[in-house]
Amino acid sequence: MSRILTRFAPSPTGRLHLGHAFSALTAFGAARDAGRTCLLRIEDIDTTRCRPEFEEAIFEDLAWLGCDWPKPVRRQSAHLPEYARALDQLAGKGLVYRCFKTRKEIAEEIARAPHQIGEGPDGAIYPGPAEPLSADEEAARMEAGEAFSWRLSVKACRDHLGEGFDGLNFVEEGSGPDGETGLVKARPETLGDVILGRKDVGTSYHLACVHDDALQGVTHVIRGQDLFFATHLHVLLQTLLGLPRPVYRHHRLLVGEDGKRFAKRDKSLTLQALREAGRTAAEVRAMAGL
Ligand code: GLU
Repeated sequence: MSRILTRFAPSPTGRLHLGHAFSALTAFGAARDAGRTCLLRIEDIDTTRCRPEFEEAIFEDLAWLGCDWPKPVRRQSAHLPEYARALDQLAGKGLVYRCFKTRKEIAEEIARAPHQIGEGPDGAIYPGPAEPLSADEEAARMEAGEAFSWRLSVKACRDHLGEGFDGLNFVEEGSGPDGETGLVKARPETLGDVILGRKDVGTSYHLACVHDDALQGVTHVIRGQDLFFATHLHVLLQTLLGLPRPVYRHHRLLVGEDGKRFAKRDKSLTLQALREAGRTAAEVRAMAGL
């Protein structure tokens, strides 16, 4: 573990809560145990939800928890052209396609599908259009200025990688039967044709995250179990973009007394609220079970 470089990558869409504290302390703790620092990356591509005051709050809350990170931090909103280039690379290989459908149209299409497609970790899975859009129609819709997203075509990826598609895998710490490090088969197809370039911001969490982990030399991605299936897709993207693959650790998620995951709406458990209620950072660590 001596060459590890890990990161904590929050999105400034609200105040950090106890669940984030657990995640941050797990990543920063792993780095400290290895005698290294942990990067902090601000994942703020979603300009509709991210706010500068929440970013400030992240710095304040993490510093209060005793975390320290190299500065300046990477802020994804300042690097959108880099993600656009990564998307271009995939487009150049014919692995993504323009999707003009609205959320509602996609939902209706999924509902009409002959076999139940099922729910992916991010909601209903979109298996892709029955028929690709003709070049003429695509040109006409672009001419008309219609908004579109870019979706990854699972089928095109499968054709592109051949047997390599079924051989995709990643190293997961703690995945073996006795908690040892093991190899997990990646099944990116379980997510369907995901959006890699959003209509509004032109990129996506998946693309920006994979791009930056590689650019920043991240060797170990330590994040919550909620992103386990995202990793299956990230492994595919790394292969398609020729990027190195980090080792992964998906930690358990903290749940509240009601058995549900903490969410940004649990105001009483934000680090700010806990601090203002007189809790110390050590007490918050203990509350997080650390
Ligand atoms: N920005 C993501 C989130 O806040 C985390 C991304 C990651 O750790 O890969 O959920």
